Amino acid sequence: MTVFEAKESVVRSYCRSFPVTFNRAKGSFLYSESGNQYIDFLAGAGSLNYGHNNDAIKQKIKDYIDSDNIIHGLDLHTSAKAEFIQTFDELILKPRDLQYKLQFCGPTGTNAVEAAIKIARKTTGRRNVFAFMGAYHGMTLGALALTGNKYHRDPSFPVSDTTFMPYPHGFMKSFDTLAYMEAVLSDPSSGVDLPAAVIVETVQAEGGVVVAPVEWLQGLRKLCDKFGIYLIIDDIQVGCYRSGDFFSFERANIKPDMVVLSKSLGGYGLPVSLLCLTEELDKNWLPGEHNGTFRGNQLAFVAATAALKFADDNNLSSLVKSNERLIAEYIDTQISVLNPQLAVRGIGMIWALDCSAFAEETTSAILNICFANGLIVERAGRNDTAIKIMPPLTTESSVLMQGLDILRDAIKVVIG
Ligand code: PMP
Repeated sequence: MTVFEAKESVVRSYCRSFPVTFNRAKGSFLYSESGNQYIDFLAGAGSLNYGHNNDAIKQKIKDYIDSDNIIHGLDLHTSAKAEFIQTFDELILKPRDLQYKLQFCGPTGTNAVEAAIKIARKTTGRRNVFAFMGAYHGMTLGALALTGNKYHRDPSFPVSDTTFMPYPHGFMKSFDTLAYMEAVLSDPSSGVDLPAAVIVETVQAEGGVVVAPVEWLQGLRKLCDKFGIYLIIDDIQVGCYRSGDFFSFERANIKPDMVVLSKSLGGYGLPVSLLCLTEELDKNWLPGEHNGTFRGNQLAFVAATAALKFADDNNLSSLVKSNERLIAEYIDTQISVLNPQLAVRGIGMIWALDCSAFAEETTSAILNICFANGLIVERAGRNDTAIKIMPPLTTESSVLMQGLDILRDAIKVVIG
């Protein structure tokens, strides 16, 4: 029995499928204690967009520590925070003509989701929120109420009012959710309370990489405007260039009222979460109404600033867009041809190969072979049937191809 087996609670689920101890990581590779190398197609569930131990970011963190600057700043003004705000404004907000106030929540993505819901409810005086079936917004009782997955939600009785709507191309594929929402909202006797907010991922990531169409996102923005509902985009997993643009909603050319970011925002796998909100909403907070001790991790600010500059210097957006073409073409020519029942979905550098048409054990059989051959890849989706391809965005094309080859060969063995 290993020390992990003896001591660690079984709520830890991901790592159980990888029965080794990892002790080093660089770029797109993880290494086990016994010296084996693994290509990383999990990337900390989207927290490592810039790769493991990215040299440019690491140097800034080291310099900061060496200078004995503030490590824990709570909500004091600090140079690290100021530099982040300025960089975020100059590189991200201004070029996109977005005028948001920045609220550091923390340290998890879930916490920013809860802040967004709280201020929407406070501002409108409405309790209800619309979320989507298959959505993932976090694990605490409020955010869990918005997470459209019975396995996660129901056992612990989440504490917010939510009305779930079908997500396009997800549950009930051809259902016209926007028409349904409009009908429900227009009918005073529908029994559905007018919501304070609609919260949506433009790509349901944990939900199995389900990509919302651009026109649907635009329609959702219009619907929210028509009924005076705040639109919250959860970009925690697919923000920070994962979809090709810094914000995933850029492809629809819409402006949400609030955006939540976390995961790769921290640049180096360091915890930080951010709520971007309009001034109109922000002014409704009273001092201390949403606080917490570990808001504003200064090392995360330093890493986040360095990551934004790294992405800008290296034109990460166009790299992701060219990798998107490589992945799509590879899947089309090398994987889809193996079995037409394998469903393929994706955008940027987040893709799914969904085995829902096959026997229950198909996905795990494929993942096990991948691991044995040096590829770390995880699963997602309603029934955990989707193989989720999510490498660091900095992955070199030769490594990307190597990882996809391992995946293709495993698929060939199981369902080819
Ligand atoms: N929203 C989305 C879209 C996510 O993918 C996640 C994490 N998987 C969360 C919220 C919650 O973030 P955290 O785990 O940092 O609380």
